[in-house]
Amino acid sequence: MTAIATVPSTTVAMENPWHNAQRQFDQAAELIHLESGLRAVLREVKRQLIVSFPVKMDDGSVRVFEGYRVQHNMARGPAKGGIRYHQGVTLDEVKALAMWMTWKCAIAGLPFGGAKGGIVVDPKKLSEGELERMTRRYATEISVIIGPEYDIPAPDVNTSPKIMAWIMDTISMEHGFSIPAVVTGKPLSVGGSQGRNAATGRGVMFVALEVCTRLGIDPKSSTVAIQGFGNAGSIAARLMAAQGFTVVAVSDSSGAIHSAAGLDVDRLIAHKKSTGSVTGFPGASVIAAHEVLEVQCDVLVPAALENQVTSENAARIQARLVLEAANGPITPDADILLEQRGITVVPDVLANAGGVTVSYFEWVQDLQSFFWDEDEINARLEKVMHRAFTEVWDMSKQHGVSLRQGAYFLAIDRVAEATTDRGIYP
Ligand code: NAD
Repeated sequence: MTAIATVPSTTVAMENPWHNAQRQFDQAAELIHLESGLRAVLREVKRQLIVSFPVKMDDGSVRVFEGYRVQHNMARGPAKGGIRYHQGVTLDEVKALAMWMTWKCAIAGLPFGGAKGGIVVDPKKLSEGELERMTRRYATEISVIIGPEYDIPAPDVNTSPKIMAWIMDTISMEHGFSIPAVVTGKPLSVGGSQGRNAATGRGVMFVALEVCTRLGIDPKSSTVAIQGFGNAGSIAARLMAAQGFTVVAVSDSSGAIHSAAGLDVDRLIAHKKSTGSVTGFPGASVIAAHEVLEVQCDVLVPAALENQVTSENAARIQARLVLEAANGPITPDADILLEQRGITVVPDVLANAGGVTVSYFEWVQDLQSFFWDEDEINARLEKVMHRAFTEVWDMSKQHGVSLRQGAYFLAIDRVAEATTDRGIYP
């Protein structure tokens, strides 16, 4: 008889991201006098799937994992959103991330609704074989609600193009033919898009340039601190450095480093690749993990997880501009404190929309089996980010509100319009 163990859900001692997402929505809905029926519809998720599934481990034992797939809204098109592997994943976190995806897709003008998925797991503790078996079984479990016309997953924290390829292959095997459009962020060999891997960071860079122009900040004399050095953070760092910004502090889950003279980002990426961590980078001093948010800098880029800037540390943020590469890194209370201090925040639903935008391009290319080159992808991405930024900026100026509220006004208006035009079934 094989031993059966359950991986317990970890409760993270922090604010509930779902409550924060609903609070952000409620505030904006109130300000735009959204009709109460629509308000009731949009503040809940449409569908939430909880799956528990067994995986054979390398030592012969069986472990049961818990996973989720949540679809917040599909009024504007199929649902879209990443899959997160993290020991701190909760259903409420996934619900918040799904709602944020709805607003993000609407702001970028993409014909998608919002979704998100996750598994409660520390993937660094799994072997490659265990990771693949867990991924394939999770893909099978959520296959009842995903598909090119329903819901299209993508990478998020601790998931990669390789994991997306396993998901694509699993769904394809179950149908007997290749279905590349079921998931985005795949390797190029199986229908991935040029530019997808760098898209989130590239979008952050475009937004950085837009907002700096509006605020009269010169990138060449501006310093940047970045929390999280994965897909979003490391590529934002590289592309912002290429635009003249000086990256002075960086962190990842293993620690934080600082150099007032500036870090060589290309060398730091190579260092992280070879050692697995940003710490130990020659010429940089080690700082405490929380200090990366509080160091002297002009631009702060949180690119890790939710609830990093809170009412506890908001007063110590020194940057004059915060770009939310991560989803939900600033709590609603901290948002108010930053606004009171005159710090400009470019919200997640705009700042990190580059990833889903190129995911949209990937889905379109897969459906038509016709692929574009990288220059075309990057030019189209820049156009989308420029339009989205301008619309959010104009909305916030027109109503005298923060960029987050401007973004929410735009997003809620678009989703509410689609919901109203479709009507309530039956
Ligand atoms: P990733 O797994 O590639 O990288 C996450 C990084 O954060 C890693 O460097 C990790 O070490 C670091 N990290 C984790 N906990 C940390 C902590 N407590 N302090 C400092 N660093 C920590 O993930 P990613 O895809 O870059 O996602 C990061 C954020 O960006 C998430 O909020 C995600 O939802 C958001 N995002 C990602 C994409 C995308 O396309 N990948 C798109 C939009 C938004």
